[in-house]
Amino acid sequence: MDYDAVVIGAGLGGLSCASVLARNGFKVLVLENTGQVGGCCSSFDHQGYRFDIGASIVELKWVIDDLFHKLGKRTEDFIDFIPIDPIYGFFTADGRRFSYPVSIEGTREVIAGFSPEDAIAWDRFAEVGSEAINFAFGKVMSESMGTMKDMLRVAAANPKLAKYLKYMVLNFESVLCKFFKNDTVRASMSLQSYFVGLPPALCPGYVAFLAYSEHEGIFYPRGGMIGIPQGIADAFTQFGGEIRFNSRVDKVLTDGKRACGVELADGTQIRSNVVVSNINAKTLYLQLVGEEKLPAWAKRAIKSYEVSIPAPMIMLGLDAKPDLDAHHSFCYATLDEMNRIWFEDYANNRVPDGGFMLISWPTHADPSLAPEGHHCLNLVSFAPYDLADGDWDRDREKYLDTMLGLLEKNFNLKLRDHIQVAKVNTPKDFERLLLHPRGAVYGLQSDITCSAAFRPGARSRVVKGLYLTGASTHLGGGVAPTIGSGMVAGDFILKDFG
Ligand SMILES: Cc1cc2nc3c(=O)[nH]c(=O)nc-3n(C[C@H](O)[C@H](O)[C@H](O)COP(=O)(O)OP(=O)(O)OC[C@H]3O[C@@H](n4cnc5c(N)ncnc54)[C@H](O)[C@@H]3O)c2cc1C
Repeated sequence: MDYDAVVIGAGLGGLSCASVLARNGFKVLVLENTGQVGGCCSSFDHQGYRFDIGASIVELKWVIDDLFHKLGKRTEDFIDFIPIDPIYGFFTADGRRFSYPVSIEGTREVIAGFSPEDAIAWDRFAEVGSEAINFAFGKVMSESMGTMKDMLRVAAANPKLAKYLKYMVLNFESVLCKFFKNDTVRASMSLQSYFVGLPPALCPGYVAFLAYSEHEGIFYPRGGMIGIPQGIADAFTQFGGEIRFNSRVDKVLTDGKRACGVELADGTQIRSNVVVSNINAKTLYLQLVGEEKLPAWAKRAIKSYEVSIPAPMIMLGLDAKPDLDAHHSFCYATLDEMNRIWFEDYANNRVPDGGFMLISWPTHADPSLAPEGHHCLNLVSFAPYDLADGDWDRDREKYLDTMLGLLEKNFNLKLRDHIQVAKVNTPKDFERLLLHPRGAVYGLQSDITCSAAFRPGARSRVVKGLYLTGASTHLGGGVAPTIGSGMVAGDFILKDFG
């Protein structure tokens, strides 16, 4: 054998698993298609500006601390996190602005300005959210949920989970509406459903508590989001781990029903006892393993998953400070509009001409990302992969113009005169760069039928020695969940091979 374990992809899930294995004496090789670590949580330099590729902040940072603790190290020796406050600035279509600070009390005061009744509901929401995140859902982040047996085991070990199971069954919208009555307040907490790539009507209810969990602190790593995967990669290489860039894996090699290595695009074969995948689970099973090697049930099961919606990103380098109030600004739509955009615009392959957008302003936290006096902005929205009336490669400029127009028309935010650099990463770019099928940014869709035991398991049931990490597995997309998934896969491998 060349290696004990080979990891396909240097995203957060792959690197986290690789570092756990390397720390435990495994000889590990990570193979990455691009020239850098991090996948959807990364950054790149372009004409003097450093832009983030996907993720723009970290919440539930304690999962990262758990990983470094597992590695016998301290997070702060590898990643310099800057706390972010306020959490969001909001732009409403009628020209109002407000922001939510990290402080629960401060946020209550802002909410009281809209509805005294909802300000009281906020306290209750924060209380339930704190317990749900810290004693129930947070606990399952780094626990395997691959089978019903796993789910029962985790539920038995966390009695409080049972109390909150209803939030797995209810949808996001009904959880939000159960607590809050005011339209502005509801709208201000609706974006989080799209953090897992779904509208409020389809998103699992527990995700609604992200609107609370952010108040436990959100953070930005100094030097750009790449600081997180780079910190994990540094710990990994200190344990003797190897990363090979510009190395696309085209096949998982099997010996009977057991994984025994990988084959690269250039035909090189690398043998290993364990193969860890950090790529989309559909691509893994249907292409890299090969659907002809799957039993009929597994083929049907993996084909039944939908991949998640893409999130085109606009990156802007500005020669002036933008007129914003926070690291994150949310140009928002009502709850109904968030649903309508999904069921009418996205379903009919249209880019909405109104709607919502997240503006991320990383130079607010870390001015060193741009030349002095200049700033970086990311505009993030969602859009279909197929366009009824257009083509992403041809219509890149049109998309930029539409989004800048939307900010001007609906939110009175004028950026055009200060743009020095503009780059659009379309769903097709995400597909080409990170090999995400149909530009899927969160692996597989994360509705309730594709959560926990209903999501592809961390330990493959059809190919022995094959393990899955990243957004396609439990708990889905996000910095903290994918790091959690890497720890889950690592624990399985240590149990099976350690
Ligand atoms: C626009 C956007 C905004 C986001 N914002 C946030 C946020 O603010 N906060 C948050 O918590 N999360 C956010 N997320 C989600 C979060 O960034 C991702 O869920 C997480 O980073 C995904 O990690 P992963 O382990 O699934 O790996 P990925 O990031 O998917 O990385 C997979 C890696 O595998 C490589 N690869 C693929 N195929 C192959 C192959 N065949 N051979 C070799 N290498 C291969 C890719 O190049 C890539 O580097 C955002 C995502 C996007 C896209």
